[in-house]
Amino acid sequence: MGKVYLIGAGPGAPDLLTLRAARILERADVVFHDALVHPEVIALAVRARIVAVGKRCSQISTDQRFINRALCEAAVRHQTVVRLKGGDPMIFGRAQEEIDALSAAGVQFEIVPGVTAALAASAELGVSLTRRGVSRSVVFATPRIGEGQSTGSEHHAWARAVAAAETAVLYMSRGDATVLTAILRAAGLPATHPAAIVESASLPGAQRITCTLEELPERVRETTGGPALVVIGEVLRETLELNLTEQAQGTQKAQRTANE
Ligand code: SAH
Repeated sequence: MGKVYLIGAGPGAPDLLTLRAARILERADVVFHDALVHPEVIALAVRARIVAVGKRCSQISTDQRFINRALCEAAVRHQTVVRLKGGDPMIFGRAQEEIDALSAAGVQFEIVPGVTAALAASAELGVSLTRRGVSRSVVFATPRIGEGQSTGSEHHAWARAVAAAETAVLYMSRGDATVLTAILRAAGLPATHPAAIVESASLPGAQRITCTLEELPERVRETTGGPALVVIGEVLRETLELNLTEQAQGTQKAQRTANE
């Protein structure tokens, strides 16, 4: 009987992978990977059979029950089985379903943490999520409802948690920014609350957009289809004000040039 490693591949850049992950990949017999994992990371598994079980919202995805079963079966035939997930496996990564299935089947497993997208976004923004004197709490939340979960009014509990947090990072949140903004406004956040959208954090196409909560639905259109998350909180105030000043100076300059 082999062992299954649930490994976090990090937010995108292949060199943000942990050494532990790289060493396990090198000796892996089979690798089941998500859509967001960088090809260079997968390439480290030189001797493994590679199976893509990607789950990118609304695109073709592999059924979770199939993945659970495939992991258990692979552990019967192979020594080292790797389940490679984007970011950290334990943050919005459906790791628990796989852990439960492996435990139920009596299969040994180990979790290897990875850099979660929120932390790569914070690095990309150059803004500390826990800036001293401004924020002593960070909430990781998602407005997305998983299969089989209730769609009743209680699902807005996430919005109350976000409104109460000093800093919040919203995963899988780009889909419907208009609804997202409305729900957060209803939960008590002001229209002028600072927000940021970070797309493809740690990757060459990375994009940062800082705006107010009210402007989110419009500004989200500037993203280009890479994975993106939304950061909300006072820690972004300085960046937002700096951007507004730069924009105002840009407009003044453009007006002067037009007048000349
Ligand atoms: N387990 C992953 C999250 C999986 S959910 C982790 O710990 O990061 C997938 C969501 O993560 C995406 O919809 C997006 O909101 C976010 N995400 C993943 N990679 C990202 C990146 N490089 N930049 C910005 N957001 C990212």
